[in-house]
Amino acid sequence: MKRLFLSIRNLKGVGEKRYQVYKKIGIETPYDLLYYLPRAYRDYRDPQPVAETAAEEQAVVCVTITQKRRPVFARGGTTLYFLESVDSEGTPLGIRIFNNMYSYQNLQVGRTYTMFGKIMFGQGGREIHSPQVHRESDNAIEAIYPQTTGLTSAMIRTNIRDALQIMDETPFETLPDALRDRYGLIPLPRAMHGIHEPADMEEADAARTRLAFEEMLRLQLGLRLLKARAAQETEHPMDPATDLSAYYESLPFSLTTAQQRAIEEIAADLSSGRPMNRLLQGDVGSGKTAVAAAACWYCVQNGCQCVLMAPTEILAAQHHHTLSAFLGPLGVEVCLLTGSLKAKEKRELYAKIADGTVQVIVGTHAVFQKAVEYHDLALVITDEQHRFGVAQRAALAEKGGVPHKLVMSATPIPRTLALMVYGDLEVSVLDVLPGGRKPIETYAVTGKMRARAMGFLTGELKKGRQAYIVCPAIEDGDSDLRSVTAYAEEMRGTLLAGWRIDILHGQMSAQEKDDAMERFRAHETDVLICTTVVEVGVDVPNATVMLIEDAERFGLSQLHQLRGRVGRGEHQSYCILVTEHATDEAKERLRLLSSTTDGFKVAEADLQLRGPGDFFGSMQHGLPPLKLATLTDTKMLHDVQEATDIILADDPDLSKPEDHALYAEIVRLFAQYGDNGLN
Ligand code: ADP
Ligand code: MG
Repeated sequence: MKRLFLSIRNLKGVGEKRYQVYKKIGIETPYDLLYYLPRAYRDYRDPQPVAETAAEEQAVVCVTITQKRRPVFARGGTTLYFLESVDSEGTPLGIRIFNNMYSYQNLQVGRTYTMFGKIMFGQGGREIHSPQVHRESDNAIEAIYPQTTGLTSAMIRTNIRDALQIMDETPFETLPDALRDRYGLIPLPRAMHGIHEPADMEEADAARTRLAFEEMLRLQLGLRLLKARAAQETEHPMDPATDLSAYYESLPFSLTTAQQRAIEEIAADLSSGRPMNRLLQGDVGSGKTAVAAAACWYCVQNGCQCVLMAPTEILAAQHHHTLSAFLGPLGVEVCLLTGSLKAKEKRELYAKIADGTVQVIVGTHAVFQKAVEYHDLALVITDEQHRFGVAQRAALAEKGGVPHKLVMSATPIPRTLALMVYGDLEVSVLDVLPGGRKPIETYAVTGKMRARAMGFLTGELKKGRQAYIVCPAIEDGDSDLRSVTAYAEEMRGTLLAGWRIDILHGQMSAQEKDDAMERFRAHETDVLICTTVVEVGVDVPNATVMLIEDAERFGLSQLHQLRGRVGRGEHQSYCILVTEHATDEAKERLRLLSSTTDGFKVAEADLQLRGPGDFFGSMQHGLPPLKLATLTDTKMLHDVQEATDIILADDPDLSKPEDHALYAEIVRLFAQYGDNGLN
């Protein structure tokens, strides 16, 4: 067992040079090598007839050597070797080898070889260049590893064979037998052989399933352990009898049942004596801010300060606006702290924060700058959390001891997935939209119908409503996509002549953006032509049309977020998706969006259509990356959740001997991703 964890230099064929290459890709021991997984397999059992091979493509063929030509010594020191061969159907194939005399000498006339290489069409017909000849003693299925300079798949295979041998001397296992039986998972040593040297593809699949399951399980257990660790005592215990009724009474609407439930869950957390770690998940427009404000009011009544952090200045400004409206009448001091404040304003604000005059601080990352000292910070709320990773979540803990944390996300993700990604958090879901809302009507149209769509849009403007138009970002420099300014000019002179138009894009300063947003909110402008800057959180209830140009460029979840900018008031709202060159897949996506307004359905579809990487974007950032497991495998996700519960129910901190191996693996996994309290 120990030998598995000694330096890889002890392996045959690993000298200083190869050792350095391995080190660069994070492989230091035979054990690491075992977890360096193939990206594909080459199957020598099933050679292609030469006549069916395509030029410029790699193929496995089986040929008999008929003649060896004399080597040709070319200029520049290259030696060219050429052999003639024929396959069982009688199709000739030339074999061209460069410089490798050894390879040439090993091939004998009259004998048959299975080989792999790139097929080229030469003057005399098909040729195979620098083929790899398969040896009888090798596996019929060969693993292919990710390409790295200085390391060929053949070298890696040889080293892995040795590592497997070391493993076989003292086989080990990380999953308890009962668990493996329950989910039909093969033992680890078999999985290691199966993934690196499968006898057939079924074996490779069984190995992959076993390893993927364990990968997910480690991640899930790790997050759950983090959650358990976080459950220490809080320095900010709050009174369970805190009365929220003044807040409820001051609201201009009554809360949805979902909002009430979330507030109760938060109140229970805040008064539990342990730090809160909660995710508030709700579709756009579900009213997360009102819940956040309730949490703030709860803290303020307990004499503490709260921070609400947003990813952009626009969002911060808007939250400031909303929280001031909700909490101002109750006598709460709410301030806005962003990077664009003047030095003097900042100093004054810092003083008020330090002496506790200001109770709720809304802002961007600026709220966590060193210079900001809090009087008694008890609650940190972050909006649109998918832009911050686990690492940042952990970093927040540094200010003011261990504050209570509330994370708000408008990206609806399927529940099993939420548990996976936010496994270290409790989850509250706002699954009810505020009453009186009419579902947004969504239409996908082609560019030909733009004039008609604009006619519809101006019809809404005539009723006193407002509209957003999203055109492609100017930052991406794609010349055939309209830039905001050019597009706005064009519209001013044509389809939108006479209406008050403003623009909003990422290259404007924070102040300019805020001003544009404020004018739109105050209905000094009718149409806001913008980039996806408005994607998250912006709230103007009087806006009823969202027209998105080149809609096919966006993912479903992103379109859903954009669509959520309208339908936030009492009026019927519309989303118009304009596409010029949509592929069938893109049309399918847009159709789906037209057929549902359920964010969870949209998220699920996005996940299926585009895969998890795309779907998560940077959300997964900060989580250890998954090598094998795919978050689209719902069945496995479900099984892993269940397995996690079973394991932790029996052994909450994985301290029993049978769980030691698994625990060690989890620590290893999380250790690679910074200090996060698991060691
Ligand atoms: P999001 O969850 O997208 O952040 P917001 O908190 O911005 O949603 O709320 C969207 C809009 O709905 C806001 O204008 C807010 O004032 C309003 N709202 C929130 N809760 C309710 C409710 N229970 N009844 C009516 N309107 C509500
Ligand atoms: Mg919001």
